[in-house]
Amino acid sequence: MAVQQNKVTRSRRNNRRSHDALVAGNPNECTNCGELKRPHHVCPSCGHYNDREVVALVEEVDLDEDAA
Ligand SMILES: [Zn+2]
Repeated sequence: MAVQQNKVTRSRRNNRRSHDALVAGNPNECTNCGELKRPHHVCPSCGHYNDREVVALVEEVDLDEDAA
């Protein structure tokens, strides 16, 4: 196991972590349904991308109990 040679002070540790903050996403409004979505991604609520439906949404999936 690697053992550090010198103590890392609170100041040096916190200075290192000063670049670790998470940044907020930059959501766009879907042009079809107006829901917020990630840019360059298919809208998760209506399945549209570039004003056309690319993912058909299924209302409810009935699982066959005998199949499992
Ligand atoms: Zn949408």
